[in-house]
Amino acid sequence: MTDVIDGNAVAQGIRDDLRASIDQLEAEDVTPTLATVLMSDDPASETYVSMKQDDCEEVGIEAIDVEIDSDAPAEELFETIDELNADENVDGILVQMPVPEHVDKRAVLEVIDPEKDVDGFHPENVGRLVAGNARYKPCTPHGIQKLLATAGVDTEGKDAVVVGRSDIVGKPMANLFMQKADGGNATVTVCHSRTENLAEKTRDADIVVAAAGVPEMIDGSMLSEGVVVIDVGINRVDADTEKGYELIGDVEYDSAKDKASAITPVPGGVGPMTRAMLLYNTVKAAGRQSGVDIEL
Ligand code: NDP
Repeated sequence: MTDVIDGNAVAQGIRDDLRASIDQLEAEDVTPTLATVLMSDDPASETYVSMKQDDCEEVGIEAIDVEIDSDAPAEELFETIDELNADENVDGILVQMPVPEHVDKRAVLEVIDPEKDVDGFHPENVGRLVAGNARYKPCTPHGIQKLLATAGVDTEGKDAVVVGRSDIVGKPMANLFMQKADGGNATVTVCHSRTENLAEKTRDADIVVAAAGVPEMIDGSMLSEGVVVIDVGINRVDADTEKGYELIGDVEYDSAKDKASAITPVPGGVGPMTRAMLLYNTVKAAGRQSGVDIEL
């Protein structure tokens, strides 16, 4: 029997646990607050930001919504971030990516106060993660660690193959897997578009994390019996549905499920966890900045 890991249920558990921490903060007159900054006309980005705000409201985090015209000068975004950095009521700042081409993305990530960088993308936070002293773990790989732990998958001594080396998923995932810590202690292989013989690597894996953004690129023939499959991919493909599309992962679900001991579906696997871990980081940020000793 394959364990289909229910990301919605695990994420709900995370949100329920956060409630106690938020109550602790509220008792000290602290309301955790996340500022989201959107500088884009992309409907998908707009949807992501509004989902994040809804998530905040549901658990009792205040959400501040800042929108900047996509053709405004870059300075407007930098001034906004400066103001949010200085605002004592703001615990977390999230700038929705991608920003327009005329804005230097790296400069944006570097200007956010690392204490308020709840995405965990500031170079200081990346460095701390690599050093094994993370302040805020990036939401997607942190969510995957929680999924694996909840599903009873012990990563210690396992061969983990991460397909994708992006700054937001692949690299931090590989780093977390190799840490000398719970959810780590794995032997890690990182694959990317220049990897040769990908199937040989994935077939040797006990755990495969697919984060390439290529629809159904990993199928059952590339996996060995008993593997744990985490599908991060979210790919929009044309389909005969009401919306005219459907979302599919980087893994061909049916053939992979036949091989796997545990697998995440798309949707309903990693996606809800990414959202839940943003709330987690925001509550953690509120605890750090208020000095209230919360349990997380
Ligand atoms: P990026 O496009 O930034 O990175 C993709 C990575 O995959 C790159 O390292 C690339 O290699 C590698 N890659 C591309 N094609 C292949 C291939 N054929 N074989 C092996 N490696 C390949 O993507 P992200 O990391 O941002 O996102 C990956 C996927 O995960 C997307 O579908 C995205 O929508 C989804 N996602 C889902 C989230 C969730 O919460 N579920 C959160 C974030 C992302 P190279 O470096 O050589 O170019």
